Amino acid sequence: MKPIQEVFEELDHPRKIVITTHPNPDADALGSSLGLYHWLTGRGHEVQVITPTGYPDFLDWMPGQETVICFDENKASTVETIIKEAELLFCLDFSSTHRLKQMEAMVLNSPAIKVLIDHHLDPDDFADYQLWDTKAAATAELIFDLIIMMNSQEEITADIANCLYAGIMTDTGSFKHPSTTSKVHKIVASLIEYGCDVSRVSRAIYDTNTVSRLRFLGYVLLEKLTVREDLGIAYIVVSDEESNRFQLKSGDTEGIVNFALSIQGIIMATIIIEKGDEVKLSFRSVGDYVVNTFAGDNFSGGGHKYASGGASELSLKETIIKYENLIETYKEHYCSPST
Ligand code: 5GP
Ligand code: MN
Repeated sequence: MKPIQEVFEELDHPRKIVITTHPNPDADALGSSLGLYHWLTGRGHEVQVITPTGYPDFLDWMPGQETVICFDENKASTVETIIKEAELLFCLDFSSTHRLKQMEAMVLNSPAIKVLIDHHLDPDDFADYQLWDTKAAATAELIFDLIIMMNSQEEITADIANCLYAGIMTDTGSFKHPSTTSKVHKIVASLIEYGCDVSRVSRAIYDTNTVSRLRFLGYVLLEKLTVREDLGIAYIVVSDEESNRFQLKSGDTEGIVNFALSIQGIIMATIIIEKGDEVKLSFRSVGDYVVNTFAGDNFSGGGHKYASGGASELSLKETIIKYENLIETYKEHYCSPST
């Protein structure tokens, strides 16, 4: 893989470009994709953002989201044609192509020049060029870096600034995670100067609860939160029946795991969600304890040191038994003070 600087001259002429990201895109996935979309479009390129699945309603405000094609809501052949015709393919906010599921083969087989821009650990070796930095707080931070590298700061519009700010705000946990460096704050200061409306973005993302989501939150905290004080671990289990009962929509469970992590003395928290044939697990940790290796070793997953995800093909009941066994020795195996 070559450094991204070597692809810059490709961007001197109008190109057909596809930008893609991971399924169930979060604010960083969609914000970095749309930030890049607006910047490339402004430079005269023909750009299409394609997401493997839809994204939560709380991202509906993002400028340009109406142009996004969701793979699972369109004919596979339509998406395949667009990907085949692309000259450049940007892959944002994921490091492992298997996360693309049915879109994976289309991306890997595409003749386009592939560019990976990401901040997750251990990227697959599939791209021709990369801008990859695990120290970056968000992929949106890397898109900002790219624009600066290309001396294009004057091209940052309010739309770009709002999209990138959304990615940075959410991936830093509203500027609380250890990834919140002085560079992050400097970038955000610049984004505000370029027209980002911080209170509008924050309200659009955080203050759009539905009544059913709030009632669901109350229910899980009261009834579904297990706290193992002896292990420093708290977890929440959500069944399909409960998701249906509370009419949960995509994104409604986002952030709930952080309530479990916020308990005094808790070093690792998990939310385990039954989704049809699959069980999804989201892990969060703090301090010396890491979850990316825990997710990789046990649940075919990965992510960041302190925020990872994985999946299980066992039933919900069997997954819980497996998880409950594993956490008995979590502290012994996943303490990593030097990293
Ligand atoms: P979340 O818990 O918010 O879904 O995901 C937390 C982090 O873990 C994200 O950075 C995401 O990219 C990563 N992640 C979530 N699910 C998976 C998965 O199934 N496989 C891998 N490799 N990473 C995941
Ligand atoms: Mn991200």
